[in-house]
Amino acid sequence: MMKPLAAIRQFCLACQGSSRKAVLSCADSACALWCLRAAPEDLREADGERQALRAIRRQCLDCAGGRAEVRVCAAKDACLLWSYRFGVFPRTYKAVRKRFFAPRLLRLLA
Ligand code: SF4
Ligand code: SF4
Repeated sequence: MMKPLAAIRQFCLACQGSSRKAVLSCADSACALWCLRAAPEDLREADGERQALRAIRRQCLDCAGGRAEVRVCAAKDACLLWSYRFGVFPRTYKAVRKRFFAPRLLRLLA
């Protein structure tokens, strides 16, 4: 699976008809991905990916219109950002869900 920064780069290329030049000169500074559309390669790995995840979350909220809509987004095979739409790595999302829905011990008061 593509990493978040790479997914943003590809998403921007798709947005601009595969033209790197057009991506670089994109004037839509209100777009959530704008700051990372040509993120330098030397952006520190961990920090870069964290920024990318946050930007993707903002982009998805703008695109879908709300948290519930992002949750049910059906563009799994059509959108490069889909795997990161919750603003976290898929493994983190799965772990949180598992913890949230895990059976809990019922503690009875004495
Ligand atoms: S920053 Fe936004 S508008 Fe600009 S190329 Fe990327 S996705 Fe398209
Ligand atoms: S994953 Fe869904 S909500 Fe996010 S940008 Fe793509 S189509 Fe929009």
